[in-house]
Amino acid sequence: MASQPIRKPTRLEPWQDPGQTPYVRIDRVTKRFGDFVAVDEVSLSIHRGEFFALLGGSGSGKTTLLRMLAGFETPSDGKIYIDGVDMTGIPPYERPVNMMFQSYALFPHMTVEQNVAFGLKQDRVPKPEIRDRVAEMLNLVQLGQFAKRKPHQLSGGQRQRVALARSLVKRPKLLLLDEPLGALDRRLREQTQFELVNIQERLGITFIVVTHDQEEAMTMSSRIAVMNHGKIAQVGTPSEVYEYPNSRFVSEFIGSVNLFEGIVAEEQSDHVLIRSEEAGCDLYINHGVMVPPGTRVAVAIRPEKITLAKEAPAAADGRNLARGLVREIAYLGDMSIYLVQLAGGKTVRVTAPNVTRRTEMPITWEDEVYLSWQPFAGVVLTQ
Ligand code: ATP
Repeated sequence: MASQPIRKPTRLEPWQDPGQTPYVRIDRVTKRFGDFVAVDEVSLSIHRGEFFALLGGSGSGKTTLLRMLAGFETPSDGKIYIDGVDMTGIPPYERPVNMMFQSYALFPHMTVEQNVAFGLKQDRVPKPEIRDRVAEMLNLVQLGQFAKRKPHQLSGGQRQRVALARSLVKRPKLLLLDEPLGALDRRLREQTQFELVNIQERLGITFIVVTHDQEEAMTMSSRIAVMNHGKIAQVGTPSEVYEYPNSRFVSEFIGSVNLFEGIVAEEQSDHVLIRSEEAGCDLYINHGVMVPPGTRVAVAIRPEKITLAKEAPAAADGRNLARGLVREIAYLGDMSIYLVQLAGGKTVRVTAPNVTRRTEMPITWEDEVYLSWQPFAGVVLTQ
């Protein structure tokens, strides 16, 4: 996967600082609909100023969790605290929260300006202040020149930005966004991802975003909670969940991955050796994993961490070195994807940047190739 987190690292992230109290605390929250458990004992702490993504497949419970934060659903068990206050029994309009829905729900008969001003009018904010705040927000989302248009005269991306301006104008401390970029095409989506991160950083609002798009979560968020069947499978920064997934599920959900099944043959503090029939070679990893020899594990290796070559690499000791036949090549412009079939039948996915022109591509269909990777490339998964 090409996407990399674009957030600038700060000195000590709030979730690493034991002195910081979380802004949102979800404490063993469960939501049942009849017998069905949609959210299953979820605990999460989210800090002020975070751009936090809830990522998961369809039906994993993301939206239900978001709706409980907003107050549109009541937890069956557990508690939600926002800014230290227990939200039990507090209706949506009394929470320091605003929610931007999947459908945007703009008023069709109102202009862009009137749509953005609506919430402030309801709160009886004085007119001159409404004018200033609406203008400020429209500038922020770069829609100043469309103030007098109606929603049907806008593109999907512009409508999305009106909805965003409308959610931000009330200056909520916490903004909940449900698939905010769902209606946009790929190019607009990428552009808007950057805008959203910039806006969030400038205003310092805490964002919690629901998405099923892992690339989007990787690009925008400070941290990601991966959800599966109502539970949190892993919480971490984009690079943590990508580089150090804690399970087969997370490794396969975030980006593409090759999973090699094997058995631990040696386990020391500085390395682990895994015998893998599937890979056709021993897998050597340069750190211990604290599981006894004989344990069945999987080793996850990302496609971009594997090098393809027609000749065996120099000084190869047979570890982390597989052989196979190139079965498929997908040329994507900036990079190519190779599907290589190993002797045992397993297909391995390898990505390589196209640093030379395509016509000079040295590896082609049905070539016999060596696949090699570094001792730090593999992640051992026990669940
Ligand atoms: P998607 O990405 O498809 O929106 P999601 O992760 O947001 O999925 P939720 O909308 O939270 O999923 O739904 C989680 C589960 O709870 C689903 O199986 C859904 O059918 C169920 N569910 C949600 N709301 C209700 C409801 N009001 N009554 C019964 N079941 C519900």
